[in-house]
Amino acid sequence: MNIINGKEISASIRAEIKAEAEKMTVKPGLAVILVGSDPASQVYVRNKNKACEEVGFYSEMYTLPEETSMEELLGLIDQLNQSPQIHGILVQLPLPKHLDEEKVILAINPEKDVDAFHPVNVGKIMIGNHSFLPCTPAGVMELLSRSGIDVTGKECVVIGRSNIVGKPQAMLLLHANGTVTVCHSRTKNLTEICSRADILVSAIGKAKFVTPDMVKEGAVVIDVGINRDENGKLCGDVDFENVAPKTSFITPVPGGVGPMTITMLMKNTLTAAKNIENK
Ligand code: NAD
Repeated sequence: MNIINGKEISASIRAEIKAEAEKMTVKPGLAVILVGSDPASQVYVRNKNKACEEVGFYSEMYTLPEETSMEELLGLIDQLNQSPQIHGILVQLPLPKHLDEEKVILAINPEKDVDAFHPVNVGKIMIGNHSFLPCTPAGVMELLSRSGIDVTGKECVVIGRSNIVGKPQAMLLLHANGTVTVCHSRTKNLTEICSRADILVSAIGKAKFVTPDMVKEGAVVIDVGINRDENGKLCGDVDFENVAPKTSFITPVPGGVGPMTITMLMKNTLTAAKNIENK
């Protein structure tokens, strides 16, 4: 059994991004907008800012009050769409209830949509001609390839069908020539389907949901979940202690998929800067 070290892989990708950025005539720039004061979102935004510093990017952070109107938010996005210093725009989700997330996503110039949530980018991912890949699923693909795991012809099972993780994850595994099954809360025979998987990706959000009976001997298990266990300790969707001995590769939580997400955001910002500069 090998534990995939997401922290280490993430650090080496960040070093590669930094080296690439240093070669560019323009500094890649990321703008992050946070509306309201959700504590988890504040941590994510701070970490994104720190990551920008680490890879030598320019960054702008906007913290707007909870009562910000749609007009104000769209006005800021429009200004950032025009800004030559900004190549990536990210609006931290979820937004306060009075703001229309769909409209906000649509307002971001798809060329600067480094989260890859705009329907133009979602469509491009579907046809396999992407500008940006959604950060978490792209991070999973990097973990697989940098661990020497070839997806071609493998039985891949993804648990979860969200627009942010499950669905795009299934698509990326399909593009990598896997045979992909997507499971969700209405799936029948979940245990049976999961136990066929050569590569099992769990993105559910339920602590220790994936148990050894759901995992084939020698499978690769990727745990996207971020949860708290009964003692308030951070844990994934997978019952790591009992599942790990059955696997050939497994990601821990924390220190697996988590560190990759922001790193892939940096990669997308670099790509956006290159694309805009080369136009
Ligand atoms: P979500 O709530 O939008 O989707 C959860 C999915 O799990 C749904 O599609 C649902 O059908 C499925 N599901 C729920 N209960 C199930 C069950 N009993 N059996 C089978 N399927 C079931 O969540 P999300 O945004 O996709 O996130 C999933 C998890 O990944 C969460 O824990 C989240 O915190 C984590 N996450 C981690 C990162 C990261 O950077 N590592 C990024 C995004 C999300």
